[in-house]
Amino acid sequence: MTAVAAILGALRGGEVRVVDLTNRLSETTPTLTLPEPFPNLIDFSLDQVSAYDEPGPFWKHHNIHTGEHVGTHIDAPVHWVSGRDGLDVSQIPPERLVGPAAVMDLTEQVTADPDFLLEVDHVRRWEVENGGLPEGGWLLLRTGWDRFADDEEAFLNTDATGSHTPGVSAECARWLAEETPLSGIGVETVGIDAGRGAELDPPFPAHYHLLGNDKYGITSLQRLGELPSTGAMIIVSPLPIVGGTGSPCRVFALVDRV
Ligand code: MN
Repeated sequence: MTAVAAILGALRGGEVRVVDLTNRLSETTPTLTLPEPFPNLIDFSLDQVSAYDEPGPFWKHHNIHTGEHVGTHIDAPVHWVSGRDGLDVSQIPPERLVGPAAVMDLTEQVTADPDFLLEVDHVRRWEVENGGLPEGGWLLLRTGWDRFADDEEAFLNTDATGSHTPGVSAECARWLAEETPLSGIGVETVGIDAGRGAELDPPFPAHYHLLGNDKYGITSLQRLGELPSTGAMIIVSPLPIVGGTGSPCRVFALVDRV
């Protein structure tokens, strides 16, 4: 039997199941809001062109309007100044978009402190129990934040001092980018940096280090709680937008049924 036939057989037989890690796209999908004076991307919306009526008697179709960085989406290297000479989203090799998932459960820490920052020591401790971060893998940070994904106010968690959502420390971002064999990281929050990422050095260190080192980031993931710490495979499928700095994407995980 070929390897692909084995996977297809396991899917059909139920030994492997598909978990959809994607948030649904609509005009209410939560989107990052930059502080003044920076202009923001538009939200996702559908614009009806016909609906089995005079403009199209037998068909219904829409135009879609969206920013690149809306909903569950990937950041390509050219999104950040440190990756300005890197790949756009259409140029990311597909082999980098399919790989093993390393899932860290940070729910307890983030429930206690929404400004929680992942440190190198946390990852080192995970590696003692689970083995080293995998070549071409994706480190997925489970925080429980996906429970807010239908409520923009709770999801962005903004007060007078800014947004309070978890992320990665500057040193950990540098270490993940420069010293691990990952393809990228995935988070449940609106961006790959913490809500207070602007206050770190460099500002927005996950963007700065990962995108500057040909690694990628995925945001607004859901259902990471259905994945084991190791052993799942994820498939990330952004639109190949020529020159694009990112794209909404569908993210699936293949998981052994245990
Ligand atoms: Mn983005």
